[in-house]
Amino acid sequence: MNKKDILGVKQLLSQRKEVAIIVHYNPDGDAIGAALALQIYLKQHGHSVSILSPNHYPDFLEWMPQSNTIIHANNNFDLCVKKIQASEIIFCVDFNQFNRIGILEKTVEEAPIPKIMIDHHISPDNSFDIMYSVPEKTSSTCELVYNFIVNMLNGKTFMNKQIAECLYVGIITDTGSLSYSCNNESTYHVLKNLFKYGIDGEDIHRKVYDNYSESRVRLLGHCLTKRLTVLNEYATSFIYLTKEDLAKYDYRQGDIEGIVNYGLSIKTVRFTALFSERDDRIRVSFRSKGNFDVDEFARTHYKGGGHKNASGGNSYKTMSETIEEFKSLLKQYKFQITNF
Ligand code: 5GP
Ligand code: MN
Repeated sequence: MNKKDILGVKQLLSQRKEVAIIVHYNPDGDAIGAALALQIYLKQHGHSVSILSPNHYPDFLEWMPQSNTIIHANNNFDLCVKKIQASEIIFCVDFNQFNRIGILEKTVEEAPIPKIMIDHHISPDNSFDIMYSVPEKTSSTCELVYNFIVNMLNGKTFMNKQIAECLYVGIITDTGSLSYSCNNESTYHVLKNLFKYGIDGEDIHRKVYDNYSESRVRLLGHCLTKRLTVLNEYATSFIYLTKEDLAKYDYRQGDIEGIVNYGLSIKTVRFTALFSERDDRIRVSFRSKGNFDVDEFARTHYKGGGHKNASGGNSYKTMSETIEEFKSLLKQYKFQITNF
């Protein structure tokens, strides 16, 4: 964040008490961690803060400090609208386009108040008043929130264990427990400082990752034995899940998080996809190793986006049409996927 923006945010915050923090649809550990850390920090500074989410966050984040304060638009839309209308400033965390916030899009976009974006995805929209956008060499939005807090007046004084726990969750969940998007000294610098506030990294890891239901673990087994296809010619794999699969394994939101990575764990695979059927669409997730740019792939073909090695989007065709289309796209991308 440059000096001008820091001054700008400080000035805005000095004149405005009511704050709304917005996270993206299907919020993950990074979005929730960033929002909660920011809320705890801003409350310490005397602000009145609401975190608004388009839908519910996954169960494995329920233990997080102050997570019970998050308001969900899917079952409390009117309250969310009221909160936005009563706000004097809006923070948008972990997304950079308003179409990522589902049913809150119109209300947030039209709110005549300053909007500050803190995010690490590429190609941000210019619809924010202040943009703290760092896609390069940044693990997560939580890493940026750490820098944001430290840059604010007396930031360090206001950092505490609860904030550090929230930020740690975002960094580990967005880097697959420090296995990708973290080849940066700066990420480890932030982590080192978080430990100064007495966090128990091992315990947080257990709370986030050893917290599955039995059916979620069995769903993973089903994906790997019955729903995984490997296309060696294209160094590609994919997993698909129908609505019936999800119902059989008692699907809860968040249950398929992480499953896409298994397709990439095969030695010869450079590109993988997960197709998961919803009522109105097929949700798609992509992961790659190396240079194959799945952000561009998702943007071009699935109205989505994300990062170079991890992205998502949607298909509005049937599952079999979606898979056929994917296979035919592979022909076009074969050279890019297999030459690295
Ligand atoms: P996931 O596959 O875990 O849902 O998403 C991987 C990455 O892609 C995340 O960083 C997420 O923010 C981004 N992403 C997922 N779906 C979409 C989408 O529909 N649009 C955009 N712009 N980004 C997405
Ligand atoms: Mn993120």
